[in-house]
Parts: sequence; C-alpha cells; structure tokens
Amino acid sequence: MFILLMGPPGAGKGTQAERLIEKYGIVQISTGDMFRAAVKKGTPLGLEAKKYMDSGSLVPDEVTIGIVRERLSEDDCRKGFILDGFPRTTAQAVSLDAILREIGIELDGIININVPDEELIRRTSGRQICPTCGATYHKTLNPPKVADVCDKDGAALYQRDDDKEATVRQRLSVYGTQTKPLIDYYKTNGHYVEINGLQAVGDVFADVVAALESDRSC
Ligand SMILES: [Zn+2]
Repeated sequence: MFILLMGPPGAGKGTQAERLIEKYGIVQISTGDMFRAAVKKGTPLGLEAKKYMDSGSLVPDEVTIGIVRERLSEDDCRKGFILDGFPRTTAQAVSLDAILREIGIELDGIININVPDEELIRRTSGRQICPTCGATYHKTLNPPKVADVCDKDGAALYQRDDDKEATVRQRLSVYGTQTKPLIDYYKTNGHYVEINGLQAVGDVFADVVAALESDRSC
C-alpha cells in the first residue's frame, strides 16, 4: 500500500500513520528521518544536505528529491510506505510523480485529513506539560485532577510557547498558504481523498482504509 498522508499540525496524522503501519506492515517515511539517515550513512547526497543543514539554510529541492529517490528505491519500501511531510511544494510533487513512475509505483491514496482551524486551535492550545516529569495533559480533553497541577508530582503545569494560540494560528496560516497549491495539484489526481478529521480516531481510520481499498479495486 503506497500512501501519501497530508493534514495540518494537530490533525492526528501521527496516530493514523501508526495504525496504517500496523495494518499494512509498511514503513513510514518522513523527511526529517530521511535526511538524518542519509547524513548518518554519509551518502553523497547526505553530505550535500548536511552542508546546508549545518549552515542553517534550506536544503535545495534537487538534493531533497535525490534523497527521496534513494530512500524510496530501498528494499523495505517495496511492500509499501507512508510519505509524511513530503512533498511540501508543487515542484516537489511533480518530481515525486516522476520518481514514482521511474521506480514503477503508483500511489494508492493521497489522503488529506481535514480539520477546521478552530478545532485545531482548541486541541493544541489546551496542551499542558509538567516541567518535572514531562507528563502531558489537556485542559479539556485530558485534564489533571486538580487544574494546572501534575497528578504525579504536584508541579505547576505550563504551556509550551509552540502551543500558544497566537503561535498555533501563525503555524496554521503558514501551512494553509504552503499547502493550498499542493492540494490543487493533487485534486486532479484520481487518488486524492479528503477525510473528515473531526470524527473519533477509529472512525477517521475506517474512512482512510475504505478510501485506500476502494481505490485499489478500480
Ligand atoms: Zn509531573
């Protein structure tokens, strides 16, 4: 099963990916992991990427695409994979299509988990963390027994800067702007499906599986 998984931060992509990996026995390929592996192995492209990463600049598309091509050609990808975090731009999507044609793979599903911004903000901005033991809570979805206090050690909980509402809004706005052209590109692909991410985790998963498997038979 070859899957491209998309969705804004907080849409529950990670959980869905875990379940898909288990169900289909496939591997997850995220851009970050791919870069780290290529750098660690010291492949020519990995070394090239490292130069950019060390200097804090963006790794150029041609290097990223080369690393993706190497990774997708490895043996453990033959049974299937979930691509996560790549492509990010339409140019990368066009290159991905070329790579897939080259290695003879067709995506079974381009799955976009849709959750309205207001819900994503509610989910994310309620997160609280314990500075002592690292336990995580959520003000409404998973509250501690006593508000703002860790159940395990009584420490005062805090909110990460990353989870503050203004920051989340900013992140979602960037995501929306970046992803819009990508979604427009994939909408012309018959394997593109939008899934309602407002449902319970199990129902989202059932929809994802139904989309992947109905796609297969046609
Ligand atoms: Zn604690």
